[in-house]
Amino acid sequence: MAAICVFCASSTTLAPGFLNLATATGAALAEAGHVLVSGGGRVGMMGAVAAGARGAGGHTVGIIPRQLQDREVADLDADELVVTETMADRKTLLIERSDAFVVLPGGLGTLDELFEVWTVAGLGFHPKPIIVVNADGFYDGLLAWLDRAVADGMVRADAVKAVTVVGDLDAALALL
Ligand code: AMP
Repeated sequence: MAAICVFCASSTTLAPGFLNLATATGAALAEAGHVLVSGGGRVGMMGAVAAGARGAGGHTVGIIPRQLQDREVADLDADELVVTETMADRKTLLIERSDAFVVLPGGLGTLDELFEVWTVAGLGFHPKPIIVVNADGFYDGLLAWLDRAVADGMVRADAVKAVTVVGDLDAALALL
């Protein structure tokens, strides 16, 4: 059993396929006996992943800043809901409380969280696995930028290796 943090979209204007992916991710993590750690809101994919985990009998931990409790609809059904004072505290706790990270499609916040956990891993601050699920090629543009950044010497190739990119949820689960 491990604590798995899922980063994903909080947007409520998503194609249904992304919501289904989030629900399936939560359910699969619970079925594998993992604890879900997430942003502690009920909106968008973030809410779907927590509901999916609990629907499959899983234990969920939500970590949300006080200021976002209304905007992101604090997940009062979480088995543990941690309220932080700042976004930075939220990210720190999400990283501390988790053994591995699964990144689903998302927006600016998801990328912020991905780059936070990735940059500190790349600098050797933690060895925790980071898995990006490139569902429907959602992150193809980011991966193309990374290739360019490595080729131009902006990003170290070994920092890139701190992240594993997979094409679908099953491949991510196989790595956990
Ligand atoms: P998004 O991918 O933009 O829908 O955001 C996904 C989650 O990331 C939401 O719960 C946001 O509140 C969160 N988020 C956005 N910016 C930050 C940040 N700077 N630090 C931590 N979490 C953030």
